[in-house]
Amino acid sequence: MTQYIFVTGGVVSSLGKGIVAASLATTLEARDLAVNILKMDPYINVDPGTMSPFQHGEVFVTADGAETDQDLGYYERFIRGNRMSQKNNFTTGSVYAEVIRRERRGDYLGGTVQVIPHITDEIKRRILAVGEDHDIVIVEIGGTVGDIESQPFLEAVRQLRLELGSRDSMLVHLTLVPHLEKAGEIKTKPTQHSVKELRSIGLQPDVLICRSIDPIPLSARKKIALFTSVEERAVISLEDAAISIYQVPVMLNEQGLDDIIVEHFRLDKPPADLSEWHTVIDALAHPKQTVEIALVGKYLDVPDAYKSLSEAIIHAGIQTKTKVNVCYVDAEDLERDGPAALADKHAVLIPGGFGARGFEGKVAATQYARENNIPYLGICYGLHAAVVDFSRNVLGYENADTTESNPNTRDPVIGLVSEWRDVSGQVERRDGDEDKGGTMRLGEQRCHLSGSSIARKAYGTDHVMERHRHRYEVNNKYVSEFEANGLSIAGRSDDDELVEMIELDDHDWFVACQFHPEFNSSPRDGHPLFTQFINAANRHAGNGSDAAK
Ligand code: GLN
Repeated sequence: MTQYIFVTGGVVSSLGKGIVAASLATTLEARDLAVNILKMDPYINVDPGTMSPFQHGEVFVTADGAETDQDLGYYERFIRGNRMSQKNNFTTGSVYAEVIRRERRGDYLGGTVQVIPHITDEIKRRILAVGEDHDIVIVEIGGTVGDIESQPFLEAVRQLRLELGSRDSMLVHLTLVPHLEKAGEIKTKPTQHSVKELRSIGLQPDVLICRSIDPIPLSARKKIALFTSVEERAVISLEDAAISIYQVPVMLNEQGLDDIIVEHFRLDKPPADLSEWHTVIDALAHPKQTVEIALVGKYLDVPDAYKSLSEAIIHAGIQTKTKVNVCYVDAEDLERDGPAALADKHAVLIPGGFGARGFEGKVAATQYARENNIPYLGICYGLHAAVVDFSRNVLGYENADTTESNPNTRDPVIGLVSEWRDVSGQVERRDGDEDKGGTMRLGEQRCHLSGSSIARKAYGTDHVMERHRHRYEVNNKYVSEFEANGLSIAGRSDDDELVEMIELDDHDWFVACQFHPEFNSSPRDGHPLFTQFINAANRHAGNGSDAAK
C-alpha cells in the first residue's frame, strides 16, 4: 500500500517547500524506497503553460509534454527513480474545469455541485492516482496555510488522512522562525500560530521543519514542540544552506527526518546512502577553476525565469570542478549598446525565449561569439538566433529572419512548418500564409546525432531524447546552403524532417539545439552538453584541462 506525506507551508511563502519536498524524496530514495511527488497549485489557471515567466518563473516541461510548475524541475533534479509527468502537477483551475465539464455532461444528474464533496473528491482522486507503483508519495500543497485559495486542498488532505489512517500518512509543515535583529532573538510565535491555523481545519502536523537564518537552539525547538504537540525530535531546524540547496538532503538526514518517517510508516529499510550528495557539495565547496559566462536573455529581473538553465550551469560546474560566474546580459541593452559586455567572457549562452523583443540582441551576441571564437551554446531561440546570424552575415541574406520576429522577411530561415512546407512535402515559403497558430512542439522527442559532430562526441551515443517547447523550425529550404558554407546539421528529428542541432565547422565550440537540454540536467549526473560547454569555456579561459572530466 502506498503511504503519503503531505507537505504544507505556513507563515510566509517562498520558504522552499519544493526543495524540502524534493530533498526529502531523495533521502527516502536513498533508503531503497520508490518515491513519487505531486505538486498541487492553488491558482485558477488551468495549467502554467500560458503564465508569464515574469510572474511565475520558469515553465518546466515534462518528458510527456506537460507545461508545469517549476517545482517539478526540483523534483527531477533531486530524484532518479522516476520522471515527472502531467499527473505530477495540477491546479485548482484544472480541477474545477474537470468538475464543470462533468456537470455540463450531466454526470451529476441535476444534483447540486459543491466544493465538498465534488471538488475535494476530484482532488483526492488525483492524489491517489499518482500512488500506483510507489511506496511513498510526497504531496506538496502550494500556497500558505490560511490562504483562501488552498482551503479545498487542505480539506481534501484532511479527508484523505482519515481514509488512509494516521499510520499510513504524515503531515510535514514548513514554517518560518524569524530572527529579530534588534531584540537579538528568534521568535517561535509565528510557528505556533501557523500550527493553530492548521489544527483549526483538523490537521495536526507530525513534523515541523522550521526555516531560519541560523540553526535553531534546542530550547526553542523544545518550546515549539510543547506548544504544537509535535514530538521534540520531529521539530527540525533548517537554516539557510551555506553553500547550496543541494546540501538540504544531507541537512535533513543529519537531523533524522528520514528515520522519523521510516519509523512512522513501520518500514524496515537500510540507512540512507547520501555519498553522491557529499560529492556534489564537495565539488561546489572546492572548485578548482573559475569561468565567466554571459547569458543573454530578457527575463532578467526574475531569477526563477531561467531556473533549470541556471541549475544546469551549476551542475556543469560540479562535473568540471568549476565555479561558473554567470553574467546576465539584457538582450535589449546589447541591441542598443553593442556587444562590449561580452568582451571579457569565456562563453556565451543564449537561452530560449518568445517574441520579437530582444531577438536582435541575441543575434548580435551570436555574431560576436561566432566571429571571436568564443564558446557558444544556443538553446531553442538561441538556435534561431544562430541561424539568422549565419544567414545574414555569412551567406549575405541581409533580410534573413525568423518569421516570429519579422513575418514579412524575404528570407524566412526560421518559420512555422506550415509557412515553409507546401502540401506536397516540398519546402517552400507560402507567402501570405496567416496561420500563426501552429501548435507547440512539446515534450520529449528523439534526436539523431551526426557521426562527426561535437554533440555526438559529448553525448557518446547516436541518438538522444530531449524536450521541446517551441513553434518555429529551421526552414529546410536553406539547409544545403548552410552546410556548404560551414554550418553543419548535427542533429535531426526521428523522421529526418526537422533540424534539431547545428554546429559551426570553423569554431572551437559552437553548438545550438532546438530542444531544451537544461530539463534533463541534474547535480549528480550533469548533462553532457553543458559539461562540454563549460569545458570549452575553461579552455577559452586558459584554465588547466586536467580538472575537467
Ligand atoms: N520562440 C521560439 C519558438 O516558439 C523559441 C521558443 C523557445 O525558445 N523555447 O519556436
